Amino acid sequence: MRIVLTDRRCLEIQNNNKLEKSGKGEIRLRVLYCAICRTDAKMWDQGHRDLILPRVPGHEMAVADNRGNRYVIWPGISCGTCVHCRAGRENRCEHLQILGFHRDGGFADEIIAPAHSLIPVPETLDPAISCFAEPMGCIFHALANFPVKKNPRFLIYGGGTMGLLAGLVIQAAGGKPMIIEKNKEKIQAAHPFLKATTIACATHTRESGFDAVINACPDIQAFADGLKKLRKGGHFLFFSGLTKNATIETDLIDLIHYHEITISGSYGLAPADMQRAVSFLDAHQRIPATLIQGIAAPENAPDLLPQVLAGKGFKYILDFTGSLSREYAGQNHQGTSQGPILETK
Ligand SMILES: [Zn+2]
Ligand SMILES: [Zn+2]
Repeated sequence: MRIVLTDRRCLEIQNNNKLEKSGKGEIRLRVLYCAICRTDAKMWDQGHRDLILPRVPGHEMAVADNRGNRYVIWPGISCGTCVHCRAGRENRCEHLQILGFHRDGGFADEIIAPAHSLIPVPETLDPAISCFAEPMGCIFHALANFPVKKNPRFLIYGGGTMGLLAGLVIQAAGGKPMIIEKNKEKIQAAHPFLKATTIACATHTRESGFDAVINACPDIQAFADGLKKLRKGGHFLFFSGLTKNATIETDLIDLIHYHEITISGSYGLAPADMQRAVSFLDAHQRIPATLIQGIAAPENAPDLLPQVLAGKGFKYILDFTGSLSREYAGQNHQGTSQGPILETK
């Protein structure tokens, strides 16, 4: 079966295996789990710069080959020959295609992907949790721009899945993260994660002079506040794109000049970032597990996308293995009023 985005806000569940033709070096894989990303929901709602319809969405997947070996897939298909590919910056490839955007993605029980994009998943890592390798790899990618410094103080804007995962990675690297989330209910919902990590999360802070700021939300106000919260010579990791056509005062932009702030943008991830994320998840899987809002049968995708778009709950994962009764030790039970979805319709 496959879930196909045929038009804006139109998802079709098709019970066939109409796979794309495999190209050179590409193989057919069984999808085990595919997480729903906010980008999938936005794409369903508004389309996307890189989207070609009709399309099977999904770029955060855990798969298995015909011998049962498990992998995650770096979702880019790069040319391998351009200047960026040769420098190990495959996400900047001039001819980049992305699974779930240009090519069919993981909202299906099978997928075609390049063999060289497969990253093995250790036996010890839960396959559902391995879906976090893609979003977490994006965080590793962004942080690679930050110069190594002892115990840096980080301010993270946005207490969604990305902001919280960023906090976890920064903390594990010896940094001191603090998360700003405007929505009190969301902070409440993040309680199991925050308790397990002891990371501070609040609606605002009086503290300033942070070594680095990372925006894990599209809010222009968060971007502006972040610039003011940095110390002189601080580093702004421009991680999330901003709400379309919002305006920002030039006085704030001038802070970049007066305070000698470095801004580094990041978009997506390279295979090496995803590899690091797999190792990290293998060592820390108990904590990302608290961010699983629900593991749902694929047929629930049309109902889940609006919730993901509205930012309700943390990570929803579509289960293509058919074994929905598994329990997660750290499962988040304080999410949306609807709670975790563990049943097929
Ligand atoms: Zn994503
Ligand atoms: Zn290339």
